[in-house]
Amino acid sequence: MALLDVIRQFYPEALTGNGFIGQIFRILQTEYALLPHQILLAHSICSDDANSIAYPEEGRKMLGPFNLGGLDGFPFTGLTGMGAFSHHIPDNGAGLVFFAPHIGIGAAGVPGQMLRVGQQAPSSCCGALIKAIQSLQQGTIVPGTPAVEDYQQQTLEQIILKSEKRIAAAANQILEGTEVIYEASEQFMDQLVQKTAFTGKYIFVIGAIIINSDWEQGSFLELRKFHCLDAPTKKLIATHSFPQVAPPVNR
Ligand SMILES: [Zn+2]
Repeated sequence: MALLDVIRQFYPEALTGNGFIGQIFRILQTEYALLPHQILLAHSICSDDANSIAYPEEGRKMLGPFNLGGLDGFPFTGLTGMGAFSHHIPDNGAGLVFFAPHIGIGAAGVPGQMLRVGQQAPSSCCGALIKAIQSLQQGTIVPGTPAVEDYQQQTLEQIILKSEKRIAAAANQILEGTEVIYEASEQFMDQLVQKTAFTGKYIFVIGAIIINSDWEQGSFLELRKFHCLDAPTKKLIATHSFPQVAPPVNR
């Protein structure tokens, strides 16, 4: 089975990194007459080096990125990060806020596992999410305020703990945990955007799942949200989607 088909068993609408960025640029150009150099990117993706190594080349045509993220892509820089980004958007341009938790899926087709550069054995991805799920299974997450010395991990653990029953009942806890982190990131991101004053004409809020494959294969993405907001009022102007992808051959 081709790698993309392996990944589409879990993420039916996954595209290659460049394919995903190409769809976004097509919509920005045809519907808003915006070119990549008029767009300031803020992204909220996991600190994991796999995300830097597999960053789609096309994505580097935009201004930025401003980094909003931390472990598993949760927007840890909060209001201050969004506020700083908000003032840097070109007057006749747009801000693009991208957020995405990530998950490793290599050729072996095991969610949460991929092969890293220079290694023979697969390793965990997202390591932070998998650690949080292991802590949940062991019953070692204590409800409360995250400690400064491990603030990001403990924040993810608190999010996971709130969805304990949902994760315990899931056929695959790593896939389900990724959804839980996506939903928490989306809710938090929407809140940050609404509380921030932006320069520029438009704010695009784009949510996705990043699927990191074995290192030489790069990354894939599945779109979850593509909203265009009017920058001054933050009112929703339009929602977008990509053309439907063909189903995998072997399904
Ligand atoms: Zn990660």
